[in-house]
Amino acid sequence: MKKELIFLGPPACGKGTQTNRLAEFLNFPHIDTGSLLRNEMKNGTEAGKEAKNYVDKGQLVPAELVAKIIKNRLAQDDCKNGYILDGYPRSVEQADILEVINKEIDADETTDFKAIYFDIDTNLLVERIVNRRSCPVCGAIYNLLSIPPKVENHCDNDGAELTQRKDDTREVAQARFDTYFKETAPLINYYKDKGVLKTIDANGTIDEVWDRLLKVIE
Ligand code: AMP
Repeated sequence: MKKELIFLGPPACGKGTQTNRLAEFLNFPHIDTGSLLRNEMKNGTEAGKEAKNYVDKGQLVPAELVAKIIKNRLAQDDCKNGYILDGYPRSVEQADILEVINKEIDADETTDFKAIYFDIDTNLLVERIVNRRSCPVCGAIYNLLSIPPKVENHCDNDGAELTQRKDDTREVAQARFDTYFKETAPLINYYKDKGVLKTIDANGTIDEVWDRLLKVIE
């Protein structure tokens, strides 16, 4: 049965690291709307130019714009057996849109849809964000305090110079948390009411969270 997994949780809760690992494990595409939008911005497309106004302020990009990108992506062949969505939906409006998109793409097929919520103590997350670095080549995520690269500022996998996201500053991070609590956190109850919510304790090491994740996705 086609597996549709969506990952919910505050910024820097560890979703990206775990979804990268799970996508490899299940051989499903990892679809991360933040990265898709940053790609549009980097390529200077019309969508990217519009998105930049919101991303730079830590606000949600308008739902129709993200829906277009997501719809194209989920219709691609590599999503046939399943996908992992990271960072989408981020509001009740987007969750309703996703339901419509899934119905269109899946038609009569039955699917296994799960929303996985990363429950974490949010106090430490701003520090995690400002110390976050990533590899522009392979997407590996590091943290200067807790998961530093072996060679300063270079990726362990391919040696590329690590980069910091423009919106990973203290000020924009705070705005992203405000947006999360206002717009995204209501999805926890939204999916609980639909009976598809799985909550995992996202405090602890990467391996501890990974073990908890594996228990809820089978
Ligand atoms: P992320 O990489 O998940 O931290 O997302 C970075 C930024 O991209 C967010 O602060 C938003 O401005 C934008 N973004 C990512 N996903 C969405 C989405 N589903 N809806 C609207 N905006 C989004």
